[in-house]
Amino acid sequence: MAEHLRYVSTRGRSPAQGIEDVLIAGLAPDGGLFLPQSWPQLSRAEIASFRGKPYALVAREILGRLLGGLGEDVLDREIPRAYAEFASEDVAPLREIADGRFLLELFHGPTLAFKDIALQLLGGLLAQALRRRGQRATVLAATSGDTGSAAIAALGGREGIELFVIHPLGRVSEVQRRQMTTSRHVNVHNIALEGSFDDAQAIVKALFADREFAAEQNLTAVNSINFVRIAAQAVYYFTAAAALGVAPTFVVPTGNFGDVFAGEAAMRMGLPVEQLIIATNANDILTRTFATGTYAVGSVQATLSPSMDIQVASNFERALYEALGRDANACRTAMEQFALRRSLAIAPAALEALRARYGAVAISDAQTLAAIARHYENTGQLVDPHTAVALAAADGLTLEGPLVMLATAHPAKFPDAVRTATGQIPPLPERLRALYEGEERQTVLANDLDLVRNFITSRAGAK
Ligand SMILES: *Cc1c(COP(=O)(O)O)cnc(C)c1O
Repeated sequence: MAEHLRYVSTRGRSPAQGIEDVLIAGLAPDGGLFLPQSWPQLSRAEIASFRGKPYALVAREILGRLLGGLGEDVLDREIPRAYAEFASEDVAPLREIADGRFLLELFHGPTLAFKDIALQLLGGLLAQALRRRGQRATVLAATSGDTGSAAIAALGGREGIELFVIHPLGRVSEVQRRQMTTSRHVNVHNIALEGSFDDAQAIVKALFADREFAAEQNLTAVNSINFVRIAAQAVYYFTAAAALGVAPTFVVPTGNFGDVFAGEAAMRMGLPVEQLIIATNANDILTRTFATGTYAVGSVQATLSPSMDIQVASNFERALYEALGRDANACRTAMEQFALRRSLAIAPAALEALRARYGAVAISDAQTLAAIARHYENTGQLVDPHTAVALAAADGLTLEGPLVMLATAHPAKFPDAVRTATGQIPPLPERLRALYEGEERQTVLANDLDLVRNFITSRAGAK
């Protein structure tokens, strides 16, 4: 049998595991995040050969190295399936918008946000792994909008999986709500919580921490702490850089640090990249960290780019672990300090390593609207507010080489901000018109842990 890559925890107190356990568990048992024991390497010649190849083929070559333990036949089948339904044949097309400036369009999946790229694949791989083990699982996700619909599009109708998505009642856009509630699949359960996104998140965390319940339900997380999502996202950094043929700088609208860490993963696998720019909205914990060396939580502010209204960027732990030279003890101590004090001082050598790889820029709502308006005037194209955060962050940069801004959502998903900025209402793509015809299904629940737990038990049964 081939030797497969094993995965270690950033906190060093869990044994190394195979990729199937990593896929199903999400979080490591010691509370850390999984990373490959060593990064597989791709040569410059291999990377250059990706230019012009179909996306699914490039994905197959890269993910064969990272996820090979799931089985070559499984990857052969599931990767093309994951990308077959994308509206653009390129899956992640790169478009030049000005001299040396490019948009990497990641919103051509079924729910119009970049999360489809990873979740469409994860859905197929998870269902397959459960089938092989003869298990069933309950997938639980809290969402401020995009994750929920992408998880539903990826897991709806999958055998062996019951999916519960909790969104804050009345606090997601109508498009986002309908994308979740009009699913026809009986294994999809929408909970509209009478509370905030933070309340929804707190309930999900408490249910994962309830060991008895978590074991009984075989509870699984598909948020961006799951390494399989990071692996799937690394692929478009390769396709974009290979298309350009020179080392670009990527400007990444960032919330939970998953997408931008996928860029670091690509670099560690051998991809030449000039810099990774973290573009945040007013929730600027990462920008402050890079400026001061202290990672300290503030309070969450609601902005025009709600999918990035996050203060604790979970995946930052992965970058910290790498910057600490993979010293798991130092990483665990730092994260324990952070849990206690909501603040952590980053060791000088680690801070220097992070600053060499990453830049960080925080963008206000006013700058976001101005970037949407300016881009529309210059190109006639509408962009969504998350993409606009990257455009605004790129404006101030003076760097060598091409700039690639990640376009993470379709403008039709956030029509209000686009209309405020330009007076235009972005048309919904043809394939989503049915949203306004489908019947909505959701259960409104009070913000109460026991109520949610009982609801899940009654709908999912025991596993
Ligand atoms: C989730 C999301 C982001 C942030 O991605 P992270 O991996 O959390 O940094 C940015 N833009 C959109 C549209 C999203 O849905």
